[in-house]
Amino acid sequence: MEAKIIYFTVNGRPEQAEFPTDCPAQDIKDLFRAAAEAGPYDILKLYNTKGNIINISPQLAPNSPHSCYKLEVVAADCNSELLGSDPAVALGFDLSSMEKRLQSLEKRIQTEATETPAIVYEMKRQVESFREKLESVEHLSWLGLFKDMSEGTHKPSPFYHKRTLRKTREECEHVREKFLQMSSLEVSEEVRQYLKTPTFDNWQWEDAEIMVLLQVMYTDLDFISTFNIELDVLQQFLYEVYRRYNNIPFHNFKHCFCVTQMMYGLIWLTDLRSKIDSIDLLIMLTSAVCHDLDHTGYNNAYQINARTELALRYNDISPLENHHCAVAFEILEKLMMIMIKVSDISNEARPMDVAEPWLDCLLQEFFNQSDMEKLEGLPVTPFMDRDKVTKPSSQTGFIRFVLFPLFIELANLFPCLEQHIIDPVRKALDYYTEMEKALEREKQNRAQSDKKPSTSKEPIAHPEPGGTTKPVNL
Ligand code: MN
Repeated sequence: MEAKIIYFTVNGRPEQAEFPTDCPAQDIKDLFRAAAEAGPYDILKLYNTKGNIINISPQLAPNSPHSCYKLEVVAADCNSELLGSDPAVALGFDLSSMEKRLQSLEKRIQTEATETPAIVYEMKRQVESFREKLESVEHLSWLGLFKDMSEGTHKPSPFYHKRTLRKTREECEHVREKFLQMSSLEVSEEVRQYLKTPTFDNWQWEDAEIMVLLQVMYTDLDFISTFNIELDVLQQFLYEVYRRYNNIPFHNFKHCFCVTQMMYGLIWLTDLRSKIDSIDLLIMLTSAVCHDLDHTGYNNAYQINARTELALRYNDISPLENHHCAVAFEILEKLMMIMIKVSDISNEARPMDVAEPWLDCLLQEFFNQSDMEKLEGLPVTPFMDRDKVTKPSSQTGFIRFVLFPLFIELANLFPCLEQHIIDPVRKALDYYTEMEKALEREKQNRAQSDKKPSTSKEPIAHPEPGGTTKPVNL
């Protein structure tokens, strides 16, 4: 059996690990855990010589003692009261006793030697900076909650899951009043036509206005007259829907609107009214409205791994979809399913200035989940891991392997959709491929400028449809 030898340092001490090439991933992780004297819930990170984080896995590239990796415990036993009143105690050791030991060590050295060795100053400096980290917000970056504050302006909150996601009563009442006032106004023909196109920009509209636009959809598809829907019943329904979408970055009421609006646009573009029954159209539009109701911002894998109330209630079987009224989906025919799925993931078919902010929202919600998974010692969802994905890489793969196959199927069925959903997605793919290349170049520049510190750091170029550039800001 072939064996791999990996050289690394942990706490400045050189170590080497040997394992067979077919060793299970978990055993390798345990091996590194043992080397770091880390517990089962501690988070380990392995860095290569460039300082990049690399996966602790059977695929780990063999190295030499000269290209040693560095192993670090970045968050210790996160299941304890990590963020409690005294973080040092919660981390499993007492910082002040460590400081006292260091002081007495310093004293002894001063009496026995003529000058304090540099290593003691270094240790003092490290303990000092460690204390600073624990006592300030910055320690969150050290805990692996985010890579480096200088890399971006965003600060995910570790209390994200504890914050109230639900809308407040005041907030709801305010929006409801506004909606009812506005719903008596006549929406212009121009807006009604714009609403039927996939280029519609959701960012221009506030929640009360969005509710009016949803009402226009039900009206203009003749649902009100066909099914004798009383207007105040529809309004009450739309209000209840609005109320039950939570204040989270991506799966919120505006996402509900975008999905419904894309569905609405597709219905008009494909002239679906001449092809299927009104009742099916009503089900499709209403399903789109309901499809992410009460989403908490954490996906099914998280629900199951974290044994949330939802996972218990639905016995681990698609807890979210069950929760988002899966009943509505199940009674639908399969074409309709494709239309709902296409509408759900159709952001990249929209103009770039509409689609790009949505991607930032999505990554924010993803990163929140993977941060929480790391803190709670749960399996980390790879495509949500801020250490593994970048903004462009998350999109190029998604477009190639998910969007294109699905959208091309739908465009085969309705060739008129080609220009509306395929062309813009192709443009988005070019855009993110360019951004990926720019990011790669930036990485190389950075690696070079690390060698030659005089080289100035350019902001990351970012291709813009209009030809201008702006820095990536995630
Ligand atoms: Mn959705």
